[in-house]
Amino acid sequence: MTTSIEPLISETEIRARVVALAAEIAPRLQPGTVIVALLKGAFVFAADLLRELARHDLDINLDFMVLSSYGNDTRSSGRVLINLDCQKLVENRDVLLLDDILDSGNTLTFAVKHMRFKGAGHILTCVLLDKPSRRQTDLQADFVGFTIPDLFVVGYGIDYAERFRELPFIGHLKE
Ligand code: 5GP
Ligand code: MG
Repeated sequence: MTTSIEPLISETEIRARVVALAAEIAPRLQPGTVIVALLKGAFVFAADLLRELARHDLDINLDFMVLSSYGNDTRSSGRVLINLDCQKLVENRDVLLLDDILDSGNTLTFAVKHMRFKGAGHILTCVLLDKPSRRQTDLQADFVGFTIPDLFVVGYGIDYAERFRELPFIGHLKE
């Protein structure tokens, strides 16, 4: 079995889109907003987006949460687990949730509910990649980097069995 990665979104395209996203997001963030990035997949996206947001002179904080969903490698089961919760920081604060990919929607839907449960104020959502064809919930992200077809992707923080996170571009993993 051979594995190959076919480039889908280049480093240059990602950079340009992240700059544009930051400009879209910045005017919608109230002072004191907590950005909660979902690990591990969103770590590169969060790092780049935050540094772009810094150009917009905002008052923001950063936190992380680690969620996982039961199931096999490529399809979500709908049951989401909290492996690491974010800090109390979000209580009575607005939150911007960041994730790498919006697929079935189960992960982000869970994260939004969890933020409400923790007493967050207004909750916004942003994903780098949106795969609308596999949605199982009625969630739509407030901000989307790229809408992509139903392909299994890796790179730019996104893994396959913990590999390929280090790639600077996003590619389609073919087996
Ligand atoms: P959802 O709960 O929306 O189905 O799951 C989204 C999560 O599934 C993403 O954060 C990501 O961890 C994983 N996922 C969905 N599509 C892909 C993909 O194409 N490649 C990889 N590596 N993970 C994916
Ligand atoms: Mg994820």
